[in-house]
Amino acid sequence: MFKELSLLFAGFPVAIILYNNYKYRKLTEKLKVEDSYNYECMFITSKNRTCASHIRRKNQCGQECSYKYLRHVLNLIKQAKETISICMYHLTLEEISTALIKAKNRGVKVRCISDIIMMECSSSKIMRLHKTGIPAKVQNTHQSLMHHKFMIIDADNPNNKQLMFGSLNHTIKGFLGNWDNTITTNNAQMIESYQEEFDRMWETFKFVC
Ligand SMILES: [Zn+2]
Repeated sequence: MFKELSLLFAGFPVAIILYNNYKYRKLTEKLKVEDSYNYECMFITSKNRTCASHIRRKNQCGQECSYKYLRHVLNLIKQAKETISICMYHLTLEEISTALIKAKNRGVKVRCISDIIMMECSSSKIMRLHKTGIPAKVQNTHQSLMHHKFMIIDADNPNNKQLMFGSLNHTIKGFLGNWDNTITTNNAQMIESYQEEFDRMWETFKFVC
């Protein structure tokens, strides 16, 4: 009897290990199935200072070139079919504002949120966007920065939805020499959360004029 009990208790830790292994394998398989989304990272560093001429000449110097990164953002805007919700602390890049206006002109519903202080900078393109028919809003108070940097493409289109978010402002400095990052993904749950937040802000913010 004592021998049988010993064997039973000796086998107990082994059973726990086997069960935990089984659980871990199952969880890994489940996560693999559930997260089949794409994630693409962009990292900009001080090395990108040398890329100014690459943007000017449309000449990519390598896989981490600022021209490649800018093209990536422009392609996202170009691919939009239905909606673009852009929430950008500071937006000064001519190429990006022009791409947004072109999207609006081909029937995409574009909405823009920016920061109330940065919007007043002479380099900001927010007023340009607003005057060309892209509604633009800012926060109601100067007390808190509207510091987000994200853009959502076609949130309601399962085949074309994209989210870009991170630290990168759409400024020349952002693309040329700050340390900045962005992730682009088609993760549906993340897109839903960001679109909800954009819509919530849109409800409470005021038009730039
Ligand atoms: Zn370059």
